[in-house]
Amino acid sequence: MIYSNLYHQGKEKLLLAGIDEAELEARLLLEYVCGTTRSDLLAHGDMAVSEEQENRYENLIGRRMTRIPLQYLTGTQEFMGLTFSVSEHVLIPRQDTEILVEEVLRNLHDGMRILDMCTGSGCILISLLHYSNDCEGVGADISEEALAVARENARKLLGAGKCQGNAEELPDDGECREDGSMAVLKETGVEDGNKTGAICFVCSDLFSNISGRFDIIVSNPPYIRRNVLGTLMPEVRKHEPLQALDGGEDGLELYRKIIEDSRAYLYGGGMLFFEIGYDQGREVSTLMEQAGFLEIQVVKDYAGLDRVVYGTRSVD
Ligand code: GLN
Repeated sequence: MIYSNLYHQGKEKLLLAGIDEAELEARLLLEYVCGTTRSDLLAHGDMAVSEEQENRYENLIGRRMTRIPLQYLTGTQEFMGLTFSVSEHVLIPRQDTEILVEEVLRNLHDGMRILDMCTGSGCILISLLHYSNDCEGVGADISEEALAVARENARKLLGAGKCQGNAEELPDDGECREDGSMAVLKETGVEDGNKTGAICFVCSDLFSNISGRFDIIVSNPPYIRRNVLGTLMPEVRKHEPLQALDGGEDGLELYRKIIEDSRAYLYGGGMLFFEIGYDQGREVSTLMEQAGFLEIQVVKDYAGLDRVVYGTRSVD
């Protein structure tokens, strides 16, 4: 079959299945299968597609019709200009979360220690280390499957390909080394000098396996109210990990626990950053205030909705 006909068939099927962005997604899946780009549909729509590619495309369209998100089919999502691997074990990185990363970057200095609580795909922590110098990062998550994805992303985006010379591999065991030090991933050849970063991922039910203190704790915890979960789009409700979404009865359960415990893991003057739901700004600010955090700020996203809350731990 020719390229443009296959695309049109795919688009019609996605439209019938009620997929909002049927045109875009039919094209992206075809480009994924054929290794083509946007302009191929316009310039080379009449090229032949192999039977194998045709079958693969039809299979993906069929799966997309069952509301599996596009990103789980292609296995990737762009975030902060980086391409992250994703699977059904992790939340797909959202553009809204870039606001959180940008707020942290504004307050991040060379050499700081960062904890990313509920790291999922690792998108927050890995972006922070990618865009900073000499920082150390610990990513914590309760899900081993999620941590495997995060480690793969760290290797791909901070190590491996960019690792040269004596750069060490990120350990697979999920532990920082026994002596408490961390694997160092070196990125050489950067114009403004050598960039080093250290990262490790720990399987931990919130702070249960975390030790040491941090300059910054950042978290995009599950924050959807339990009675709202059923109303989410089928892509989210049926395919994204429930554990990454469910914020308990009032959506604030994880904030409460993290705020309560974070004091013991932050240096005096250290900062706590959260992504929040659009209607949680006041409640999360109040929780932080009650826990003694200072200079609490709420930051809006590009839609004008509350998206980030952060504050500073008092010095003892
Ligand atoms: N930190 C990850 C993200 O922002 C996962 C968040 C989560 O699982 N709630 O995508």
